Amino acid sequence: MNWVTIIWSTAGAASLTLAAISLLVWSRKRKARAHAYLALTAIGVALMAVTELLMMHAGTAREFETVLRWFHVPVLLIIVSLVGFVRLYLRAGRPWLAWTVCGLRTLSLVANFVFGVNLNYREITSLRHIRFLGESVSIPEGVSNPWMLVGQASLLLLVVFAVDVTLTVWRRGARRQALAIGGSIIFFTLAGLGEAILVLWRIIPVPLTTSFFFLAVVGAMALELSVDTLRAGELLEDLRESEARIALAADSANVGFWSWNFDTDLIWATEKTLEIYGFSTNENMTFKKFLGVVHPDDRGRVGNDARRAFREATDFLVEYRLVLPDKSIRWISVRAKANSKPSGEPHRMLGVSLDITERRQNESEMVELRLELAHLARVLAISELSTSLAHEINQPLGAILNNAEAAKLLLSRDKDRQETIGEILEDIIQDTQRAGNVVRKIRGMAKKSEAHFEPLPVDPLVKDVLKLVNSNLSMNNITLQLDLKPGLADVKGDRVRLQQVLMNLIANAIYAMNNTPSRTLTIRAAMEAPDIVTVSVSDSGTGIDKAYQDAVFRPFFTTKKDGLGFGLSICRSIIEEHGGRIWGENNPTGGATFSFSLNVWKG
Ligand code: ADP
Repeated sequence: MNWVTIIWSTAGAASLTLAAISLLVWSRKRKARAHAYLALTAIGVALMAVTELLMMHAGTAREFETVLRWFHVPVLLIIVSLVGFVRLYLRAGRPWLAWTVCGLRTLSLVANFVFGVNLNYREITSLRHIRFLGESVSIPEGVSNPWMLVGQASLLLLVVFAVDVTLTVWRRGARRQALAIGGSIIFFTLAGLGEAILVLWRIIPVPLTTSFFFLAVVGAMALELSVDTLRAGELLEDLRESEARIALAADSANVGFWSWNFDTDLIWATEKTLEIYGFSTNENMTFKKFLGVVHPDDRGRVGNDARRAFREATDFLVEYRLVLPDKSIRWISVRAKANSKPSGEPHRMLGVSLDITERRQNESEMVELRLELAHLARVLAISELSTSLAHEINQPLGAILNNAEAAKLLLSRDKDRQETIGEILEDIIQDTQRAGNVVRKIRGMAKKSEAHFEPLPVDPLVKDVLKLVNSNLSMNNITLQLDLKPGLADVKGDRVRLQQVLMNLIANAIYAMNNTPSRTLTIRAAMEAPDIVTVSVSDSGTGIDKAYQDAVFRPFFTTKKDGLGFGLSICRSIIEEHGGRIWGENNPTGGATFSFSLNVWKG
């Protein structure tokens, strides 16, 4: 059995296989440059094993000289690729040391080809044959080449470089990497160097087995890379898993989840997202495609915000409109976060999109309703005010008119002054009449617009108003009790005006409960008679002061510091306009109840 051939061939084949695998990885993933360096080192080790085998089997001194000369080519390849691997993979090692190591080794190779028969010998005078692993192998005898010292210096420097790297990586906390790569370079280079010195200075009679020392280093490098690859795989799996989890959560919350890769510009999206944006599942979604469906007025803003979020790796929060193929508009709210690579370059953005069209519509309906109510309140207030004004002003005006006319009659007997005073009084009459006209005009102007009666279901009428006041109730710690009896008939009513009535009654109830510890607002609706529905608003507040019980519906009556005293009088005029009735009473258990009854819609 030829052990030397078997062992060295196996080492060479193992190195070449490792090189092939590493090259394959690198060809698939060009960014994995550490694999390319590992492949070069492994190729160097394989070549070294071959040259060692050839030296052991060399028949003549000349043959040995030549093979030993070529032995130094893989040595240079191994050292340069090793230094490259360390600098790239461990991101450590002083550049000047790295360059010096490579420079000295290159110089050794030049000397190897220029001075003497090779770097180690000026001349090999004879070959000795010794038994090694049960086989006869050749070892040289000859004159040493002093240039060998340069080569050995380069190996020593490689050890210094590796010590420096190991310390840096160790301090960084990556102790396993420091020991596996830095440690193995130090240990096996020193071992290889020691062996070479002992062999080449003829201290021990064995052949060179340097390739095995470097094979061990290559092994450590390969192990590190595969641990990394494994870890990357696990991380990817974890990521994938968390993505799936987020997607599931997003789906159940009815929001679309997506992830946008900056390098490829591809947007991965859940089906819900595609549905929101009106894309079919098969399409490759890119940012450009996505911007294409954004409303033209919002497009610039959305694009700029997204790019800024990527640039600054910040949140991307935006609301915008989409135009769907059928030209309908959809409101979308996006919450996303961009993150960057360790190098600081934009990496990807993870986000969710929510269809908020309905919320937007409700909001705008609410705003419209509020505006309408506010307008109505103003018109009604002016109307009430002018009614009272007319009443109050017309009386004195009438008196002035009567008095003036009486004075004119009396003065008609005094001929001397008749003319002047008569003129003056005439003026008074005209002014007074003008004033009367002004008042009448104001009344005319502020005349309420015609009520618009329609069949109104009571349930949504109450609930719409509650939507408006809900936040007020919770802010004031008020418990709401709704008691809307089933089977209520539609009433004959003007929706907006009846909402105004309910708003006023609820506002008064909230005010009345300002200082009471227990706060409950109860809204009831029931059929009072087959053709009458009664709605009531009860509170657990102060109740109506006995002394004022009859006054509360009068215009200008208020017990509040900043009250106007219009609310209930407006309510009354609206309800009376509806042909209904409104009244207030105290509850036996405290607080007050204001109720109004309305006629059922009869078509
Ligand atoms: P304002 O709210 O400006 O005072 P209103 O016409 O709405 O005008 O109310 C008139 C008065 O009726 C109030 O100042 C208050 O004294 C009394 N009032 C109205 N609602 C209630 C209630 N729920 N509980 C007790 N008093 C009330």
